[in-house]
Amino acid sequence: MRVYKFGGASVKDAEGVRNVAKIVRMETDELMVVVSAMGKTTNALERVVELLASGKEEQALTQWVEIIDFHVAVMKELGLQPGVDIRLQGEIPYDPSLCYDENYDQIVSMGELLSTQIVAVYLLKQGMSVEWWNMPKLLRTDHTWREAKIDDETSRSVIRAGWDRPARPRIVVTQGFIGGTEDGKRTTLGREGSDYTAAVLGNYLDAESVTIWKDVPGILNADPRIESNTVLIPSLRYRDAVELSYSGAQIIHPKTIRPLENKRIPLYVKPFGDPAASGSRIAEDGIGPIDIPVYIWRKNQLLITMRAKDFAFVLEESLSEIFDIIHRHRLKVSLIQSSAVTISVCVDNTRFVPEALEALKEHFDVSYNDHLSLLTIRGTTPEILERAKAGRTIMLSQTTRRTARLVVKES
Ligand code: ASP
Ligand code: MG
Repeated sequence: MRVYKFGGASVKDAEGVRNVAKIVRMETDELMVVVSAMGKTTNALERVVELLASGKEEQALTQWVEIIDFHVAVMKELGLQPGVDIRLQGEIPYDPSLCYDENYDQIVSMGELLSTQIVAVYLLKQGMSVEWWNMPKLLRTDHTWREAKIDDETSRSVIRAGWDRPARPRIVVTQGFIGGTEDGKRTTLGREGSDYTAAVLGNYLDAESVTIWKDVPGILNADPRIESNTVLIPSLRYRDAVELSYSGAQIIHPKTIRPLENKRIPLYVKPFGDPAASGSRIAEDGIGPIDIPVYIWRKNQLLITMRAKDFAFVLEESLSEIFDIIHRHRLKVSLIQSSAVTISVCVDNTRFVPEALEALKEHFDVSYNDHLSLLTIRGTTPEILERAKAGRTIMLSQTTRRTARLVVKES
């Protein structure tokens, strides 16, 4: 069997759904099709949650109706009957007695539930052998709202049992990014988590391969929205892919590689606009190290510098304390630099940062800079580095022989 994952851009409208059908039809193997929410639906649903939480119920409802209307329009364009072919949720699944993050998961998960029903019913109407799966009932997670951890043991056995059923249709369509708890609550796995779902399902079902269909030709050496001369990397190793995604390459979610590497399942990244193209292949026997310079931007960074209050040597006495606080407050560290008495960490500027800063301030003198980006250049040379630095305010730079990492002020 194979796993195909279609992201939001590939199903952003009716035309996108038709294209998914075209790609799926070309495959003759058994197929698990993992789909994200359509276009920017997840962002729109996040706004609904924000509006509700700040008491703007009317605006929230307007936004919600807009989202539903958009999906209804797509259904109609595809010849599907809203409310008959596809279940429509009239009311917003919001409960003011629950915390923000729990409500977030109940509401934001609607994006994938809608998109997958549309895709599944459309494929069915095209004459394909299809079944729709509801991940909140199958992919078991804990209660860490917005960043739920998957219970592999339970999920694997439930999903395998469903897959191994004798009369199962050849194609299963299901949601990326969402799961559910033992007590029937929906959860989400973290933004852009659909790739991760695809990899996990590939692992459970011992897939022949996992393919992520994207709006780019494959894995490129730079973001085509930033650099004009980009080059496709046709083959790479798991470890290089991990490094690229950890450095901030938007192409695959950082958690995607491990479930695949564990079972040596190759990952393909291919353009949904040109399904016959070969794209990129990531595998154990991939070619590496990558022999062209690769530029990766990680945006929205915060550089935190800590100095021990009593001039203790930070490194020796405080390192474990610092990382304990960082870990407990769910900060994502992208770079670490230390001197005798200070330690600096670059982190994603997430909603967890303010509390983490408070906790760090109890033990250290803390200063920070925001509005930063981290530029990682792999396969750098002195000339490339000079060019990258030109005209930019560099807050910190870390270089090894082949890799340069620059913390840059956002212009
Ligand atoms: N729809 C979710 C998001 O936009 C998950 C995904 O696309 O991977 O974050
Ligand atoms: Mg997405």
